[in-house]
Amino acid sequence: MSETITADREAALISSVPKSLYIDGQWREAHSGARLEVQDPSTGKVLCEVADAGEQDGWDALHAAQRAQSDFAAMPPRQRADILMRAFELMHERKDDLALLMTLEMGKPLAEAYGEVTYAAEFFRHFAEEATRISGNYQTAPAGNARFLVTKQPVGPSILITPWNFPLAMGTRKIGPAVAAGCTSVLKPSELTPLSMLALAQILQDAGLPAGVVNIVVTSNAGGTMEPLIRSGIARKLSFTGSTAVGKKLLEQCADHVLRTSMELGGNAALVVFEDADLDKAVEGALLAKMRNSGEACTAANRLFVQRSVAKDFADRLAQRMAEFQVGRGVDDDVKVGPLINAKQRDKVQELVEDAVRSGAEVLLGGEPIAGEGYFYPPTVLFDIPEGARVRSEEIFGPVAPVTPFDTEEEAVAAVNSTEYGLSNYVFTNDLTRALRVAEAVESGMVGINQGVVSNPAAPFGGVKESGLGREGGDIGIDEFLETKYIGIAM
Ligand code: NAD
Repeated sequence: MSETITADREAALISSVPKSLYIDGQWREAHSGARLEVQDPSTGKVLCEVADAGEQDGWDALHAAQRAQSDFAAMPPRQRADILMRAFELMHERKDDLALLMTLEMGKPLAEAYGEVTYAAEFFRHFAEEATRISGNYQTAPAGNARFLVTKQPVGPSILITPWNFPLAMGTRKIGPAVAAGCTSVLKPSELTPLSMLALAQILQDAGLPAGVVNIVVTSNAGGTMEPLIRSGIARKLSFTGSTAVGKKLLEQCADHVLRTSMELGGNAALVVFEDADLDKAVEGALLAKMRNSGEACTAANRLFVQRSVAKDFADRLAQRMAEFQVGRGVDDDVKVGPLINAKQRDKVQELVEDAVRSGAEVLLGGEPIAGEGYFYPPTVLFDIPEGARVRSEEIFGPVAPVTPFDTEEEAVAAVNSTEYGLSNYVFTNDLTRALRVAEAVESGMVGINQGVVSNPAAPFGGVKESGLGREGGDIGIDEFLETKYIGIAM
């Protein structure tokens, strides 16, 4: 990452990226001819227009996936793996364009966009390796009179729906295992950030993925386009990443034909710092857990609970470090905090902060939106948040760190678990026994001990409670796209 980004470079990139639907290996406009606008959240200006699919386009995509399914399932695993590896390499070859595109449509600082390209590509490499290791079992029946043959088969055509906050990685985290398992798919990216996924479709095409295996449908009418497809039962699987509210609606639609589901939903992560922790490391961990993606992450630390004897010191140090984070357009040098995705999100963050302050929280840093073009919100630290404040129960999705003191370990664990979410939590302590005790007691699919990041393609990512169902990545991520079949053999 060395180039200086000029307006000409931005314009040239935007003009060169695909802006159509990708269906059955073809780039094409929507049947209606409709197009939707993609904005740069750092300016509020329109970057470009892309094809805006309707229901008919959705059906075309699903039928293409349906037609491609049996041949793709029969493709040798090594060949599927080779395509994923080629796509992994192409992502690295095109990383400058992919990163800049992501920064332009989503706002995150360029350095973080490069990080996401690497993270996203890693899912292709990881699942290329998994594709050739799908295995089964051969077992003697307990009575000795039969043998059990257990094998794995692709689930079938799948619908994949992704959010805007990690526009590439949330796609590769689904496409990687689907392709590795032999499933075809229709992917609907967020209408706010479709360009990254269209650029990825170009990469998959260039990597040799057969027509119809991955189809990309961008639409401003997510419900109207996707609901009939989900309810049709033609797809056998829905893998969704997004909010818990939408996830619940989709689960109900999946019930019609009992689709397999993977649900990566909202989070309300807590970060707990005990008085025996290395406070410098805890502050740096909190910065990662809070400020990655400007707080627009499902794993973002939303609630920071710090043992009373060190709470104020911790909050002051955190505020001091967060004050150093430069806010601005993600393409500009040294910017660490980009804009939020849109005005609605910025206003919601402001509402949560105002509500916390009204409830009695103290503002140590920030607290007011930044005027002018773009949807910027400054790094903000709140201290001592009373229990009823909304910021203790709602996803913030912004660079706001609410720090609340606690006295005992039991009190901390109870506070962490007092949410319907259960995606990730973080614990900082130098007492190994306590670290493990708390990690086991907190209700979440993931726990970081003395670290502020849990995401890793080689580890199982996912939540409990209303944060979701299933796991992506790790050695079990591929199972989300595989059915287990048992064949009984009489002897
Ligand atoms: P969202 O639920 O509004 O949208 C997610 C996707 O669903 C988008 O593509 C959207 O167009 C689509 N969608 C919306 N309504 C739909 C409908 N009725 N039918 C079909 N599709 C529909 O979420 P968002 O604002 O894009 O993303 C933020 C949310 O995603 C947060 O809650 C965050 O925690 C969650 N998230 C979770 C994970 C995870 O792995 N658990 C990762 C990233 C984001």
